[in-house]
Amino acid sequence: STIGEALLQSVERCPDREALVFLEEGIRKTFAEFLHDVDQTAAGLLALGLQRGDRLGMWGPNIYEWLLYQFATAKAGIILVSTHSLITAFKTQQYVEMLRKICPEIDSCTPGDLKSAKLPHLRSVIVTDSRHPGMFHVDDVRQAAGSEHTRLLQDLQRKLCVDDPINIQFTSGTTGMPKGATLSHHNIINNVCIFGVRMGYTWKVRICLPVPMYHCFGSVAGLCQHSLHNIHYGSIAYHPHVSICLYDGVLLHPYRCTFIYGTPTMYVDMLSHYTPTKYDLSSVEGGIMAGAPCPPEVVREVISKMGIKQITLGYGTTENSPVTFCGDPLDNEERKVETVGYIMDHVEAKVVNPSTGVIVPLGKTGELMIRGHCVMLGYWNDEDKTRECISPDGWYKTGDIASLDGYSYCRIEGRIKDMIIRGGENIYPAEIEQFLHTHPKVMDAQVVGIKDQRMGEEVCACIMLNEGQECTAEEITAFCKGQIAHFKIPRYVIFVDRYPLTVSGKVQKYKLSEQAEKLLG
Ligand code: ATP
Repeated sequence: STIGEALLQSVERCPDREALVFLEEGIRKTFAEFLHDVDQTAAGLLALGLQRGDRLGMWGPNIYEWLLYQFATAKAGIILVSTHSLITAFKTQQYVEMLRKICPEIDSCTPGDLKSAKLPHLRSVIVTDSRHPGMFHVDDVRQAAGSEHTRLLQDLQRKLCVDDPINIQFTSGTTGMPKGATLSHHNIINNVCIFGVRMGYTWKVRICLPVPMYHCFGSVAGLCQHSLHNIHYGSIAYHPHVSICLYDGVLLHPYRCTFIYGTPTMYVDMLSHYTPTKYDLSSVEGGIMAGAPCPPEVVREVISKMGIKQITLGYGTTENSPVTFCGDPLDNEERKVETVGYIMDHVEAKVVNPSTGVIVPLGKTGELMIRGHCVMLGYWNDEDKTRECISPDGWYKTGDIASLDGYSYCRIEGRIKDMIIRGGENIYPAEIEQFLHTHPKVMDAQVVGIKDQRMGEEVCACIMLNEGQECTAEEITAFCKGQIAHFKIPRYVIFVDRYPLTVSGKVQKYKLSEQAEKLLG
């Protein structure tokens, strides 16, 4: 089905059930109210002159409008171009550059001062804050909808096709400039449906969603979930201090959330603020940790200290819309902690030697490749890049090093791009990071390569300590001796207060490595 049809089915099942709560904005909507708002917005977009296949760029934080536009554009056959949510983190000029580079024909953006930017195809700007001359306000869009536009929208529903592109989702920009992955109804609906079934979601689940809506994790695994599974979610505005936000979301939500979403960094942050006497997390039955390497020690602590027993790891990429591996809430602890779960239904995975493309034996590492309904249509306007990562027979090259067991449980070793080559030895940072996490003073550890004349690269550990702790580089290297291979022991150890993060909360290793190199002179 299309996203619009899926939403309609949800509404017909339970129109009066509360669909969503936006804490910051004090907004609560039932499914019927939500559908009404979506239809009005979709008709309003048609009234503004947007047509099937046009692109609407969305740039904003986690607000109700984001959700409205996600569904309204899908219903109107318009392609939503999702970009970074934190305006402060992503300046107008960069945004314009990105749009120009990746989507030069972009038609319409919200919000901001983009009118003056030289975007020849930009037809209109919609803003969510105060009214600006020459721009549309979100209220204007809904008010523009007349009965003829509602009829037009109804007619359009019959013409939409499940393979139509509906989202250009930008990747996180963890390894460089974000890329625009084009996703269809088919990509997203299947991912939502199969992921929801894996998680055992029912209408009783109340999700707390702090991950940004501009990212696939937030928009597909989060936002679109409720359209098929009739679940509530208390969405909370994205905030730099995610842990506090999460606690507020979980604790202040009128129904108490039962499920939380986060990247590993968000959980590390939550753990560092956790005080059992202050925060009652008894309503939280489960959580998803995904989007970046999930250190087993962090997962164990979330289970043991915060009592979130059904923590599930997931792995995916924006290009795979996004989830391709996910744990099962019923997995035993070792699988839960050590792997990213098993392959999603109707998706194929193989692990190959990156140089030859030949499948490696089970348990051996190589590049992970994915094929199935989840694989994007391609990078928007970039056939060359699309050809580089999707083979003619449909396999998507993830750029990640992984291994599979006989039950398709997957271990992610790290990104090929992050691999450190020291004197000819391939070193995956994740292994060292996981070990460093077992040091009692270490709150988080990220390992990067530093250029070295003799060895090519040297291993550098960038460590965040637990509050009030002091530690020396010697203490860390002594801790590693005899425990990990000698060539993996960090040559350099630096202590940092924070890491450079993408707005989706992932550590940007290339930036961290640059910072470390500067610091080490
Ligand atoms: P860019 O492609 O712009 O550099 P990105 O790859 O981070 O950014 P996303 O699509 O957000 O863009 O992230 C996908 C990547 O995130 C995967 O290829 C993988 O490297 C990493 N990842 C996702 N989930 C996990 C996980 N559970 N464990 C380890 N790595 C993960």
